[in-house]
Amino acid sequence: MIKRSFFSLNQPRLLYDLVEPDLKEPESIPLPASLSVLLPEEIDSTKQALIKKGDTVKKGEKLRLYDDSTAYTLSPVAGTIQLFDTYSDDFGKVATFIIIKPDLTKPCEADTIKLDTIEDIEFANQFLRKLPGAPPFEILANDDIKINTIVITCADTDLLSTTNQFVGLMYTDEIKAGAKILKAMTRVPKICITIPEALNTQVNFNSIQVIKTGNFYPSTLPAMIMKDHLNMVLPAGQTPENMGVCFIRAEALVSLARVYETREAVFDKILTLIGKDGTRHRVRATIGTPLSKIFSRFNIHVNEQDRIIIGGPMRGFATFTIHHPVLADMDTVIIQDRDIIPQLSDTPCVNCGKCIRICPVNIPVNLLVRYLEADQYEEAADRFDLESCIECGLCAYVCTARIPLYQYIRLGKHELLTLRADA
Ligand code: SF4
Ligand code: SF4
Repeated sequence: MIKRSFFSLNQPRLLYDLVEPDLKEPESIPLPASLSVLLPEEIDSTKQALIKKGDTVKKGEKLRLYDDSTAYTLSPVAGTIQLFDTYSDDFGKVATFIIIKPDLTKPCEADTIKLDTIEDIEFANQFLRKLPGAPPFEILANDDIKINTIVITCADTDLLSTTNQFVGLMYTDEIKAGAKILKAMTRVPKICITIPEALNTQVNFNSIQVIKTGNFYPSTLPAMIMKDHLNMVLPAGQTPENMGVCFIRAEALVSLARVYETREAVFDKILTLIGKDGTRHRVRATIGTPLSKIFSRFNIHVNEQDRIIIGGPMRGFATFTIHHPVLADMDTVIIQDRDIIPQLSDTPCVNCGKCIRICPVNIPVNLLVRYLEADQYEEAADRFDLESCIECGLCAYVCTARIPLYQYIRLGKHELLTLRADA
Protein backbone atom coordinates (compact mmCIF):
# COMPACT_ATOMS: atom_id res chain seq x y z
CA MET A 1 0.00 0.00 0.00
CA ILE A 2 1.46 3.34 -1.06
CA LYS A 3 1.41 6.20 1.43
CA ARG A 4 2.40 9.53 -0.03
CA SER A 5 4.38 12.09 1.87
CA PHE A 6 3.77 15.80 1.52
CA PHE A 7 5.42 17.47 -1.40
CA SER A 8 5.79 21.11 -2.31
CA LEU A 9 3.06 22.87 -4.25
CA ASN A 10 3.68 23.70 -7.89
CA GLN A 11 2.14 26.40 -10.09
CA PRO A 12 -0.41 27.91 -10.32
CA ARG A 13 -0.45 29.54 -6.90
CA LEU A 14 -3.85 30.70 -5.74
CA LEU A 15 -4.03 33.52 -3.20
CA TYR A 16 -6.58 33.51 -0.42
CA ASP A 17 -8.84 36.55 -0.20
CA LEU A 18 -8.52 38.86 2.78
CA VAL A 19 -11.34 40.37 4.79
CA GLU A 20 -12.14 44.04 4.15
CA PRO A 21 -10.26 46.43 6.51
CA ASP A 22 -13.36 48.42 7.52
CA LEU A 23 -15.45 45.81 9.31
CA LYS A 24 -19.16 46.54 9.52
CA GLU A 25 -21.93 44.59 11.21
CA PRO A 26 -23.46 42.06 8.78
CA GLU A 27 -26.75 42.74 7.02
CA SER A 28 -29.52 41.05 9.01
CA ILE A 29 -32.06 38.98 7.09
CA PRO A 30 -35.59 39.19 8.57
CA LEU A 31 -37.11 36.02 9.98
CA PRO A 32 -38.82 34.17 7.10
CA ALA A 33 -42.36 32.78 7.16
CA SER A 34 -40.98 29.26 7.60
CA LEU A 35 -37.61 27.72 8.41
CA SER A 36 -36.28 24.23 7.83
CA VAL A 37 -33.80 22.45 10.06
CA LEU A 38 -32.01 19.19 9.39
CA LEU A 39 -31.97 16.29 11.80
CA PRO A 40 -29.29 13.70 11.00
CA GLU A 41 -31.48 10.64 11.42
CA GLU A 42 -33.63 8.69 8.98
CA ILE A 43 -37.41 8.40 9.49
CA ASP A 44 -38.37 4.88 10.58
CA SER A 45 -42.03 4.31 9.70
CA THR A 46 -42.24 1.37 12.13
CA LYS A 47 -41.63 3.64 15.13
CA GLN A 48 -43.82 6.22 16.85
CA ALA A 49 -42.24 9.65 16.27
CA LEU A 50 -41.88 12.11 19.16
CA ILE A 51 -42.81 15.03 16.90
CA LYS A 52 -45.79 15.55 14.65
CA LYS A 53 -47.33 18.17 12.38
CA GLY A 54 -49.03 20.89 14.43
CA ASP A 55 -46.79 20.53 17.51
CA THR A 56 -45.78 23.85 19.03
CA VAL A 57 -42.11 24.25 19.84
CA LYS A 58 -40.10 26.75 21.83
CA LYS A 59 -37.03 28.56 20.62
CA GLY A 60 -34.04 26.38 21.51
CA GLU A 61 -36.17 23.27 22.05
CA LYS A 62 -34.39 20.01 21.40
CA LEU A 63 -36.12 18.00 18.66
CA ARG A 64 -35.58 14.23 18.36
CA LEU A 65 -37.36 11.66 16.24
CA TYR A 66 -37.65 8.76 18.65
CA ASP A 67 -37.22 7.87 22.32
CA ASP A 68 -33.94 6.11 21.64
CA SER A 69 -32.56 8.76 19.23
CA THR A 70 -29.20 10.30 20.03
CA ALA A 71 -29.35 12.61 16.98
CA TYR A 72 -31.11 15.90 17.59
CA THR A 73 -31.60 19.36 16.25
CA LEU A 74 -32.75 22.59 17.93
CA SER A 75 -35.68 24.72 16.92
CA PRO A 76 -34.28 28.16 15.99
CA VAL A 77 -37.64 29.84 16.70
CA ALA A 78 -40.79 29.45 18.73
CA GLY A 79 -43.49 28.22 16.39
CA THR A 80 -45.36 25.27 14.95
CA ILE A 81 -44.08 22.20 13.13
CA GLN A 82 -45.60 22.26 9.66
CA LEU A 83 -44.00 19.19 8.21
CA PHE A 84 -41.16 16.72 8.58
CA ASP A 85 -39.95 14.46 5.81
CA THR A 86 -36.98 12.64 4.35
CA TYR A 87 -33.96 14.52 3.06
CA SER A 88 -31.25 12.94 0.96
CA ASP A 89 -27.83 14.55 0.36
CA ASP A 90 -25.70 14.30 -2.78
CA PHE A 91 -24.13 11.02 -1.61
CA GLY A 92 -27.53 9.52 -0.87
CA LYS A 93 -27.12 9.95 2.91
CA VAL A 94 -30.60 10.18 4.37
CA ALA A 95 -31.70 12.58 7.11
CA THR A 96 -34.93 14.36 8.08
CA PHE A 97 -35.91 17.96 7.51
CA ILE A 98 -38.38 19.71 9.77
CA ILE A 99 -40.25 22.82 8.62
CA ILE A 100 -41.21 25.21 11.39
CA LYS A 101 -43.50 28.22 11.07
CA PRO A 102 -42.43 30.94 13.52
CA ASP A 103 -45.05 32.33 15.86
CA LEU A 104 -44.33 36.02 16.19
CA THR A 105 -47.35 36.79 18.34
CA LYS A 106 -46.22 35.29 21.65
CA PRO A 107 -43.81 37.04 24.02
CA CYS A 108 -40.32 35.84 23.23
CA GLU A 109 -39.20 35.31 26.83
CA ALA A 110 -41.88 32.72 27.67
CA ASP A 111 -41.27 30.85 24.44
CA THR A 112 -37.53 30.40 24.77
CA ILE A 113 -35.82 27.47 26.49
CA LYS A 114 -33.58 28.62 29.35
CA LEU A 115 -30.49 26.46 29.78
CA ASP A 116 -28.88 25.52 33.09
CA THR A 117 -25.46 26.09 31.60
CA ILE A 118 -22.61 24.23 33.23
CA GLU A 119 -19.04 24.04 31.99
CA ASP A 120 -19.25 20.39 31.14
CA ILE A 121 -18.50 18.84 27.75
CA GLU A 122 -21.31 16.30 28.01
CA PHE A 123 -23.78 19.13 28.65
CA ALA A 124 -22.45 20.90 25.55
CA ASN A 125 -22.76 17.70 23.55
CA GLN A 126 -26.33 17.18 24.70
CA PHE A 127 -27.59 20.71 24.10
CA LEU A 128 -25.22 22.83 22.01
CA ARG A 129 -24.11 20.78 18.98
CA LYS A 130 -26.29 22.81 16.60
CA LEU A 131 -25.03 26.31 17.39
CA PRO A 132 -23.79 28.61 14.60
CA GLY A 133 -20.29 27.45 13.68
CA ALA A 134 -21.20 23.79 14.31
CA PRO A 135 -18.99 23.15 17.35
CA PRO A 136 -17.53 19.61 17.29
CA PHE A 137 -18.77 18.68 20.78
CA GLU A 138 -19.53 15.11 19.69
CA ILE A 139 -15.82 14.58 19.08
CA LEU A 140 -14.69 16.45 22.19
CA ALA A 141 -17.11 14.49 24.39
CA ASN A 142 -16.08 11.11 22.97
CA ASP A 143 -14.00 9.23 25.56
CA ASP A 144 -12.47 7.09 22.82
CA ILE A 145 -10.89 10.13 21.16
CA LYS A 146 -8.08 11.81 23.06
CA ILE A 147 -7.74 15.43 21.95
CA ASN A 148 -4.52 17.24 22.94
CA THR A 149 -4.77 20.29 20.71
CA ILE A 150 -7.70 22.48 19.69
CA VAL A 151 -7.17 24.71 16.65
CA ILE A 152 -9.60 27.64 16.35
CA THR A 153 -9.91 28.65 12.72
CA CYS A 154 -10.00 32.33 11.81
CA ALA A 155 -8.28 31.59 8.50
CA ASP A 156 -10.82 30.52 5.87
CA THR A 157 -10.17 27.19 4.25
CA ASP A 158 -11.38 27.99 0.72
CA LEU A 159 -10.79 30.77 -1.77
CA LEU A 160 -13.12 33.81 -1.86
CA SER A 161 -14.49 33.11 1.62
CA THR A 162 -13.69 35.59 4.39
CA THR A 163 -16.32 34.65 6.98
CA ASN A 164 -13.90 33.16 9.50
CA GLN A 165 -11.51 36.11 9.24
CA PHE A 166 -14.43 38.49 9.73
CA VAL A 167 -15.61 36.66 12.85
CA GLY A 168 -12.05 36.45 14.16
CA LEU A 169 -11.49 40.20 13.96
CA MET A 170 -15.01 41.42 14.73
CA TYR A 171 -15.75 39.32 17.80
CA THR A 172 -12.31 38.79 19.34
CA ASP A 173 -13.47 39.22 22.94
CA GLU A 174 -16.23 36.63 22.54
CA ILE A 175 -13.77 34.20 20.96
CA LYS A 176 -11.51 34.58 24.00
CA ALA A 177 -14.49 34.10 26.34
CA GLY A 178 -15.64 31.04 24.37
CA ALA A 179 -12.14 29.57 24.37
CA LYS A 180 -11.98 29.97 28.16
CA ILE A 181 -15.25 28.06 28.55
CA LEU A 182 -14.10 25.37 26.11
CA LYS A 183 -10.81 24.98 27.97
CA ALA A 184 -12.65 24.57 31.28
CA MET A 185 -14.94 21.95 29.69
CA THR A 186 -12.30 19.90 27.92
CA ARG A 187 -9.06 20.57 29.82
CA VAL A 188 -7.26 20.26 26.50
CA PRO A 189 -3.70 21.51 27.19
CA LYS A 190 -3.02 23.34 23.94
CA ILE A 191 -5.31 25.82 22.20
CA CYS A 192 -4.16 27.59 19.02
CA ILE A 193 -5.83 29.99 16.63
CA THR A 194 -5.16 30.41 12.91
CA ILE A 195 -4.90 33.91 11.43
CA PRO A 196 -3.81 34.71 7.86
CA GLU A 197 -0.28 36.08 7.90
CA ALA A 198 -1.22 38.63 5.21
CA LEU A 199 -3.80 40.25 7.51
CA ASN A 200 -0.91 41.68 9.47
CA THR A 201 -3.07 42.01 12.57
CA GLN A 202 -1.81 42.45 16.09
CA VAL A 203 -4.95 41.16 17.83
CA ASN A 204 -4.15 39.86 21.31
CA PHE A 205 -5.65 36.43 21.98
CA ASN A 206 -4.15 36.15 25.50
CA SER A 207 -2.79 32.66 26.14
CA ILE A 208 -4.05 31.23 22.84
CA GLN A 209 -1.12 30.42 20.58
CA VAL A 210 -1.45 32.26 17.27
CA ILE A 211 -0.65 30.35 14.08
CA LYS A 212 -0.01 32.65 11.11
CA THR A 213 -1.15 30.84 8.00
CA GLY A 214 0.34 31.18 4.53
CA ASN A 215 -1.13 33.27 1.73
CA PHE A 216 -1.54 30.54 -0.84
CA TYR A 217 -4.12 27.85 -1.17
CA PRO A 218 -4.29 25.19 0.35
CA SER A 219 -2.13 26.25 3.34
CA THR A 220 -5.16 26.63 5.67
CA LEU A 221 -6.58 23.13 5.19
CA PRO A 222 -6.34 21.07 8.40
CA ALA A 223 -3.77 18.63 7.00
CA MET A 224 -1.55 21.51 5.91
CA ILE A 225 -1.86 23.33 9.27
CA MET A 226 -0.86 20.12 11.01
CA LYS A 227 2.15 19.62 8.75
CA ASP A 228 3.37 23.22 8.62
CA HIS A 229 2.65 24.34 12.19
CA LEU A 230 2.15 21.31 14.43
CA ASN A 231 4.83 19.06 12.91
CA MET A 232 2.37 16.26 12.30
CA VAL A 233 1.84 14.45 9.04
CA LEU A 234 -1.69 13.18 8.72
CA PRO A 235 -1.46 9.49 7.80
CA ALA A 236 -3.58 8.21 4.89
CA GLY A 237 -7.16 7.53 5.89
CA GLN A 238 -6.81 9.27 9.27
CA THR A 239 -8.60 12.36 10.54
CA PRO A 240 -7.04 15.17 12.60
CA GLU A 241 -9.06 13.89 15.58
CA ASN A 242 -7.39 10.48 15.29
CA MET A 243 -4.11 12.37 15.75
CA GLY A 244 -5.40 14.29 18.78
CA VAL A 245 -6.17 17.56 16.97
CA CYS A 246 -9.64 19.09 16.84
CA PHE A 247 -10.44 22.04 14.55
CA ILE A 248 -13.24 24.43 15.55
CA ARG A 249 -14.56 27.53 13.79
CA ALA A 250 -14.10 30.83 15.60
CA GLU A 251 -17.83 31.37 15.22
CA ALA A 252 -18.55 28.30 17.34
CA LEU A 253 -16.68 29.95 20.23
CA VAL A 254 -18.59 33.20 19.75
CA SER A 255 -21.81 31.17 19.95
CA LEU A 256 -20.59 29.39 23.08
CA ALA A 257 -19.75 32.68 24.80
CA ARG A 258 -23.21 34.06 23.95
CA VAL A 259 -25.00 30.96 25.25
CA TYR A 260 -23.20 31.15 28.59
CA GLU A 261 -23.88 34.88 28.81
CA THR A 262 -27.62 34.64 28.06
CA ARG A 263 -28.38 31.01 29.04
CA GLU A 264 -30.20 30.65 25.73
CA ALA A 265 -29.17 28.90 22.53
CA VAL A 266 -28.32 31.27 19.67
CA PHE A 267 -29.12 30.82 15.98
CA ASP A 268 -27.73 33.82 14.07
CA LYS A 269 -25.35 32.46 11.44
CA ILE A 270 -22.86 34.73 9.71
CA LEU A 271 -22.04 33.96 6.12
CA THR A 272 -20.50 35.49 3.04
CA LEU A 273 -22.67 35.75 -0.05
CA ILE A 274 -20.91 36.28 -3.37
CA GLY A 275 -23.21 37.45 -6.15
CA LYS A 276 -22.93 36.79 -9.87
CA ASP A 277 -20.86 39.94 -10.41
CA GLY A 278 -18.47 38.97 -7.61
CA THR A 279 -19.89 41.45 -5.09
CA ARG A 280 -19.43 40.21 -1.55
CA HIS A 281 -22.17 40.64 1.05
CA ARG A 282 -21.79 39.90 4.74
CA VAL A 283 -25.01 38.39 6.03
CA ARG A 284 -26.55 37.41 9.36
CA ALA A 285 -29.43 34.95 9.01
CA THR A 286 -31.25 32.62 11.37
CA ILE A 287 -30.29 28.96 10.90
CA GLY A 288 -33.01 27.39 8.76
CA THR A 289 -33.66 30.50 6.64
CA PRO A 290 -34.13 29.55 2.96
CA LEU A 291 -31.33 30.92 0.77
CA SER A 292 -33.98 32.43 -1.51
CA LYS A 293 -34.76 35.00 1.23
CA ILE A 294 -31.12 36.09 1.28
CA PHE A 295 -30.94 36.30 -2.51
CA SER A 296 -34.03 38.49 -2.71
CA ARG A 297 -32.66 40.81 0.01
CA PHE A 298 -29.79 41.61 -2.38
CA ASN A 299 -31.86 41.50 -5.57
CA ILE A 300 -30.01 38.45 -6.86
CA HIS A 301 -32.11 36.56 -9.38
CA VAL A 302 -31.19 32.94 -9.77
CA ASN A 303 -32.10 31.79 -13.26
CA GLU A 304 -32.43 28.28 -14.56
CA GLN A 305 -28.98 26.68 -14.91
CA ASP A 306 -27.27 29.28 -12.72
CA ARG A 307 -25.30 27.48 -10.07
CA ILE A 308 -25.61 27.90 -6.28
CA ILE A 309 -22.42 26.76 -4.56
CA ILE A 310 -22.36 26.18 -0.83
CA GLY A 311 -18.77 26.63 0.30
CA GLY A 312 -15.89 27.98 -1.74
CA PRO A 313 -15.02 27.44 -5.38
CA MET A 314 -12.47 24.69 -4.68
CA ARG A 315 -14.28 22.52 -2.14
CA GLY A 316 -17.90 23.65 -2.20
CA PHE A 317 -20.86 21.70 -3.49
CA ALA A 318 -23.74 22.77 -5.70
CA THR A 319 -27.30 22.74 -4.48
CA PHE A 320 -30.21 22.44 -6.87
CA THR A 321 -32.67 24.49 -4.85
CA ILE A 322 -32.87 28.14 -3.87
CA HIS A 323 -34.80 26.95 -0.79
CA HIS A 324 -31.78 25.21 0.71
CA PRO A 325 -31.68 26.33 4.37
CA VAL A 326 -28.87 28.17 6.12
CA LEU A 327 -26.92 25.57 8.11
CA ALA A 328 -24.74 25.85 11.21
CA ASP A 329 -21.57 25.17 9.19
CA MET A 330 -22.43 27.24 6.12
CA ASP A 331 -19.75 29.94 5.71
CA THR A 332 -20.04 30.90 2.04
CA VAL A 333 -22.64 30.87 -0.71
CA ILE A 334 -21.67 31.70 -4.30
CA ILE A 335 -24.04 32.30 -7.21
CA GLN A 336 -22.51 31.62 -10.59
CA ASP A 337 -24.15 32.82 -13.76
CA ARG A 338 -24.87 29.97 -16.16
CA ASP A 339 -22.76 31.70 -18.83
CA ILE A 340 -19.55 31.53 -16.81
CA ILE A 341 -19.88 28.08 -15.28
CA PRO A 342 -16.86 26.04 -16.39
CA GLN A 343 -18.23 23.09 -18.32
CA LEU A 344 -17.17 19.61 -17.33
CA SER A 345 -16.55 17.18 -20.14
CA ASP A 346 -16.44 13.47 -20.81
CA THR A 347 -13.21 13.87 -22.76
CA PRO A 348 -10.76 11.17 -21.67
CA CYS A 349 -7.57 12.05 -19.81
CA VAL A 350 -4.90 13.38 -22.19
CA ASN A 351 -2.06 12.53 -19.79
CA CYS A 352 -0.85 16.11 -19.56
CA GLY A 353 0.35 15.50 -16.01
CA LYS A 354 -0.91 18.82 -14.61
CA CYS A 355 -2.91 17.12 -11.86
CA ILE A 356 0.14 15.23 -10.62
CA ARG A 357 2.33 18.32 -10.62
CA ILE A 358 -0.20 20.40 -8.67
CA CYS A 359 -1.16 17.77 -6.08
CA PRO A 360 0.26 18.74 -2.67
CA VAL A 361 0.48 15.09 -1.62
CA ASN A 362 1.88 13.84 -4.93
CA ILE A 363 -0.92 11.47 -5.84
CA PRO A 364 -0.92 10.09 -9.43
CA VAL A 365 -4.39 11.52 -9.96
CA ASN A 366 -4.57 10.55 -13.63
CA LEU A 367 -4.23 6.87 -12.69
CA LEU A 368 -6.35 7.13 -9.56
CA VAL A 369 -9.31 8.51 -11.47
CA ARG A 370 -9.32 5.58 -13.90
CA TYR A 371 -9.96 3.24 -10.99
CA LEU A 372 -12.59 5.54 -9.55
CA GLU A 373 -14.38 5.76 -12.90
CA ALA A 374 -14.45 1.96 -12.91
CA ASP A 375 -15.84 1.85 -9.33
CA GLN A 376 -12.69 0.05 -8.13
CA TYR A 377 -12.45 1.81 -4.79
CA GLU A 378 -10.31 -0.66 -2.83
CA GLU A 379 -7.78 -0.75 -5.67
CA ALA A 380 -7.85 3.06 -5.84
CA ALA A 381 -6.97 3.15 -2.14
CA ASP A 382 -4.36 0.38 -2.19
CA ARG A 383 -2.56 1.25 -5.41
CA PHE A 384 -3.11 4.97 -5.92
CA ASP A 385 -3.51 6.46 -2.48
CA LEU A 386 -7.09 7.61 -2.56
CA GLU A 387 -7.03 8.02 1.23
CA SER A 388 -3.99 10.34 1.21
CA CYS A 389 -5.96 12.98 -0.69
CA ILE A 390 -6.51 16.10 1.44
CA GLU A 391 -9.46 17.20 -0.74
CA CYS A 392 -8.03 20.50 -1.93
CA GLY A 393 -9.61 20.27 -5.41
CA LEU A 394 -6.53 21.61 -7.17
CA CYS A 395 -6.34 18.65 -9.55
CA ALA A 396 -9.85 19.36 -10.85
CA TYR A 397 -9.01 23.06 -11.13
CA VAL A 398 -6.10 22.43 -13.52
CA CYS A 399 -7.41 19.40 -15.43
CA THR A 400 -6.97 19.92 -19.17
CA ALA A 401 -9.75 17.45 -19.98
CA ARG A 402 -12.08 19.05 -17.41
CA ILE A 403 -12.69 15.75 -15.71
CA PRO A 404 -14.55 16.27 -12.41
CA LEU A 405 -11.63 14.78 -10.47
CA TYR A 406 -12.57 16.24 -7.11
CA GLN A 407 -16.12 14.86 -7.32
CA TYR A 408 -14.77 11.44 -8.31
CA ILE A 409 -12.42 11.48 -5.33
CA ARG A 410 -15.07 12.54 -2.80
CA LEU A 411 -17.48 9.95 -4.11
CA GLY A 412 -14.72 7.34 -4.10
CA LYS A 413 -13.88 8.01 -0.44
CA HIS A 414 -17.55 7.82 0.46
CA GLU A 415 -18.01 4.52 -1.38
CA LEU A 416 -14.86 3.12 0.20
CA LEU A 417 -16.17 3.91 3.69
CA THR A 418 -19.52 2.33 2.84
CA LEU A 419 -17.84 -0.81 1.47
CA ARG A 420 -15.73 -1.17 4.60
CA ALA A 421 -18.66 -0.54 6.90
CA ASP A 422 -20.69 -3.21 5.06
CA ALA A 423 -17.78 -5.63 5.28
S1 SF4 B 1 -7.92 16.94 -4.37
FE1 SF4 B 1 -6.55 16.34 -6.05
S2 SF4 B 1 -4.81 17.72 -5.88
FE2 SF4 B 1 -5.89 17.83 -3.93
S3 SF4 B 1 -4.87 16.32 -2.62
FE3 SF4 B 1 -6.60 15.30 -3.59
S4 SF4 B 1 -5.74 14.34 -5.42
FE4 SF4 B 1 -4.26 15.87 -4.74
S1 SF4 C 1 -4.89 17.00 -15.53
FE1 SF4 C 1 -6.66 15.85 -16.33
S2 SF4 C 1 -6.07 15.43 -18.47
FE2 SF4 C 1 -4.17 16.03 -17.41
S3 SF4 C 1 -3.29 14.07 -16.67
FE3 SF4 C 1 -4.58 14.83 -15.02
S4 SF4 C 1 -6.57 13.84 -15.34
FE4 SF4 C 1 -5.42 13.65 -17.25
